[in-house]
Amino acid sequence: MKDSVWKIIFVTGGSISGLGKWVTASSIWKLLKSAWLSVGMVKMDPYLQVDAWTMSPYEHGEVFVTEDGSETDLDLWNYERFTWENLWADSNITTWKVYLNVINKERKWEYLWKTVQIIPHITNEIKDNILKTSGNCDVTIVEVWWTVWDIESQPFLEAIRQMKEDIWKNNVLYVHVAPLLYLDFSWEVKTKLIQHSIIKLREYWIIADILVCRTNSEVSNDIKDKISMLCGIYKENIIEAKNANSIYEVPRKLKEQDLDKIILEHFDIKWKKSDLSNWNNLVEKIISPKREITIWVIWKYVEFEDTYKSINEAFIHAWVANDVKVRLNWINSEKLEWEDSQKILKWLYDEGKLSGMLIPGGFWGRGVEWKINAVKFARENGVPFLWICLWLQVAVIEFARNVCGMKWADSTEFNKETVFPIVDFMEWQDDDIDKWWTMRLGRYDAVLEKWSLANELYGEVNISERHRHRYEVNPKYHDVLRENGLVLSGMSPDGKLVEFVELENHPYFIATQAHPEFKSRLESPHPLFVGLVKSSL
Ligand code: GLN
Repeated sequence: MKDSVWKIIFVTGGSISGLGKWVTASSIWKLLKSAWLSVGMVKMDPYLQVDAWTMSPYEHGEVFVTEDGSETDLDLWNYERFTWENLWADSNITTWKVYLNVINKERKWEYLWKTVQIIPHITNEIKDNILKTSGNCDVTIVEVWWTVWDIESQPFLEAIRQMKEDIWKNNVLYVHVAPLLYLDFSWEVKTKLIQHSIIKLREYWIIADILVCRTNSEVSNDIKDKISMLCGIYKENIIEAKNANSIYEVPRKLKEQDLDKIILEHFDIKWKKSDLSNWNNLVEKIISPKREITIWVIWKYVEFEDTYKSINEAFIHAWVANDVKVRLNWINSEKLEWEDSQKILKWLYDEGKLSGMLIPGGFWGRGVEWKINAVKFARENGVPFLWICLWLQVAVIEFARNVCGMKWADSTEFNKETVFPIVDFMEWQDDDIDKWWTMRLGRYDAVLEKWSLANELYGEVNISERHRHRYEVNPKYHDVLRENGLVLSGMSPDGKLVEFVELENHPYFIATQAHPEFKSRLESPHPLFVGLVKSSL
């Protein structure tokens, strides 16, 4: 291994999950980036799945897609939206990837006459993956999934412990995020959970350099003295991470406690002042909005906020861009299926409560008829509407049925026997539709029609977006849709696949086959969301 080249920050979590380690990791990234360093990011997920797409949206939140088409845990997107940079399949190290590589190497006799073991083979593989991803960055931040107590995390913790020996000790920094409890029945602050997780880390011979206390109370001087003494952490390296008004506020709060300075001094990097002024100005618009608007979002997994995280956040970015707070009202589509949806929409519209609508993508045909009615309502009543992925398909089906007169138009995803397969599986895809490799995943280019709404919003003709779907608008019907007035305003570069559709004479009716929410960031809000909010205003 090379020495004194890599500088790596490991972020671990103590005692309980859900502390928002990623906010700490991303905020450190933001601080170092704004001090003009190049910073890489890696997430280690010790779960056994190949990727995140078979996980329940209720447990893990939505599935995120990288530019190179990897389906990952939401955290990769969390990192991306704090910066302007893209992460890749390699930025996510899962147990599956590590074991598969080791097993393949073993089959190729790469460990001939050796006993293949967790230590050193699995741990070496983990270390190699981290170093491969670190590349030429000045600093790489590696977040270790869940808590130091989890069995699955053990080889990962052992690997990160070894890295301190491998790459000269000052080039490795351990940041531990742990809960500082406040008991509201006895008005006491409790440090025991922190002490225990620091002890647990020591079982792996990992000594935390920096402790980030997640708390809803102040971390007083006395508490810092106590933690410092009991956990052997310098007092100035004990950082308060108190609940913030917005996650985007956290970089500023950490900077106020000189976290950037502490890190750079540890690495012996010449102290460069980080400049967060632009970021902080944007955050101010989130914290103190001047106006407010309501947009309706309709879908099924409404109980768990993280299911539509990217959509939620893309609206926050659009809120900042338009300087108007966007309140999202989530309607459970399943509930609407039992009621008279047209009446509800009409009532909302007449009451002035329906300034805009968005429906996120999805799979399978539950409630399709209702969805088609929702499209019809928005089309006929001029409600600003942004349609994502499945909804482009639904919008096209609705248009085919109600405008082109193809009464039985459908998607073969919902009805295999349909006489008008307006949305269909393409012949170049494998006919076993249950296999993941039939999905169109990751970045695809599109060419936008000059002077279309899409072109106006993006300000460009050649764009790219990330995809995550199987079905496409059937090329057999492109002409008939066009002849009846549907604008196919964005196509794949070869002209075969529909990427955007829109309607003329409608204030804002645009649908995309892609998932634009994946590319929205605070400092670069997505034009389709910005446009929806603007037009809803
Ligand atoms: N179910 C549709 C397809 O697979 C749309 C998927 C989505 O909305 N992400 O094509």
